[in-house]
Amino acid sequence: MPWIEDDTGQAAGLDELAGRVLSGERIPMPAVCPVCGESDSAHVYIDHSGNPRMGAIWAWCSHCHHYWHACVLPPAWWQNLDTVDRGRLDGLVEYLAPMAAAIDAHWMKLISSYFARSM
Ligand SMILES: [Zn+2]
Repeated sequence: MPWIEDDTGQAAGLDELAGRVLSGERIPMPAVCPVCGESDSAHVYIDHSGNPRMGAIWAWCSHCHHYWHACVLPPAWWQNLDTVDRGRLDGLVEYLAPMAAAIDAHWMKLISSYFARSM
């Protein structure tokens, strides 16, 4: 099944999910897909380039195969996942999608330590 870029500009797409993450919301992953409505199917990965003001974000759905990608300023809490080879990242999700389970686990670890600190 081919990947479909979610560039329709609709209000509630994967870009909106990514926007909520970037504006500071800690959203449990996998999330409900904003495109097809399937639960536990949307994933988000962020890459921190090493430059404190540069990075990228990918959001994709393992159910309907829509994806979204943009260059962004990563949130302060984000840390790259060690097993993701930064040299293989590009504007698509073919490389990241098979690692969704590991990415979700990494994501939940990062946001749960945030919640533990804030209690
Ligand atoms: Zn979907």
